[in-house]
Amino acid sequence: MTRRNSLFAATMLAGTAAAFSLMSTGAAQAQGALVMYCAVQEEWCRAMTSAFERETGIKVSMTRKSSGEIYAQVKAEAQNPRADIWWGGTGDPHMQAAEEGLTVEYKSPNLGELQDWAVRQWEQSKNRTVGIYSGALGFGYNTELVKANGIKEPKCWADLLNEDLKDEVQVADPNSSGTAYTLLATIVQLMGEEKGFEYLKSLHKNVNQYTKSGAAPAKATALGETTVGIVFMHDMVTMVVDNAPVKVVAPCEGTGYEIGSMSIIKGAKNLENAKKFYDWALTPAAQKLGAEAKSYQVPSNKNTPVPPQAPKLDEIKLINFDFAKYGSSEERRRLLSKWDNEVKNLPK
Ligand code: PLP
Repeated sequence: MTRRNSLFAATMLAGTAAAFSLMSTGAAQAQGALVMYCAVQEEWCRAMTSAFERETGIKVSMTRKSSGEIYAQVKAEAQNPRADIWWGGTGDPHMQAAEEGLTVEYKSPNLGELQDWAVRQWEQSKNRTVGIYSGALGFGYNTELVKANGIKEPKCWADLLNEDLKDEVQVADPNSSGTAYTLLATIVQLMGEEKGFEYLKSLHKNVNQYTKSGAAPAKATALGETTVGIVFMHDMVTMVVDNAPVKVVAPCEGTGYEIGSMSIIKGAKNLENAKKFYDWALTPAAQKLGAEAKSYQVPSNKNTPVPPQAPKLDEIKLINFDFAKYGSSEERRRLLSKWDNEVKNLPK
């Protein structure tokens, strides 16, 4: 091929590629777009994104962050919202956003298929957020480290204060993480506020790191970077499924739980697509993607099979968690600021 011919061929090829790319962008644009903030594990966020794109042709732009971080971002962007849908993460910041008018009312035609706890979340938020999954808080420990260091196997919240766990407990920061806020609210409800804060201050002595993301301590426990990780039990189960030397514990005193939630952002630029995603995310076909991505929560649609690995909520001593109170703007703000002032900055 002469140089001129090869130049011609290259130009033709580039032209064809550009035309194809235009056609595919055009097709995506025909279906529109959706901007999603996602608070579960990255793998599950990605599985939801690709399945919804495949199903509808709607192009999804997804960002994964922790529950409290998404709340802060949605609030900061309230005058010019970037996101359309907020999918996943603990219910408390969804409830707070609902109360502050950052999200909108929506009644899905699939609401009737949901468990009572998921519908109650919707009712308590005045129709602005809905339950998509549930899971109990607990902790896990690295069995090899416990054995090697002669540590007594922790079974209760009280055991996490033992001296042999000094700098060996990891949990997230409740400002960024819904998991860690669930711990804060659980301890306060279980022990009362005064004793609860005494407990958290004592626990602080044993904490090696407050991570940003709630599930990070599960990974650190699996890798032996910490002996104990306080997380949702299903996050520790994921480590066990991957053959990590980890034991999952439902604390003996009882524990709290979450109602993972979903909300549509007020001022969403792709409102119709947000509603399409919302309806689809409540179907068994979408909800079973969780277990496929190794996330073992209890799904909110009664017809979605509960993954056999999911911790059995009816076999765990659960507290009567007051989601309305601990998801209210005033209480959440008050508790977080008290934790910052009295626990986080405490010298060890
Ligand atoms: N990942 C899983 C599997 C969860 O169940 C939850 C809670 O809803 C989260 C992540 C939330 O993460 P974070 O504590 O970082 O807000």
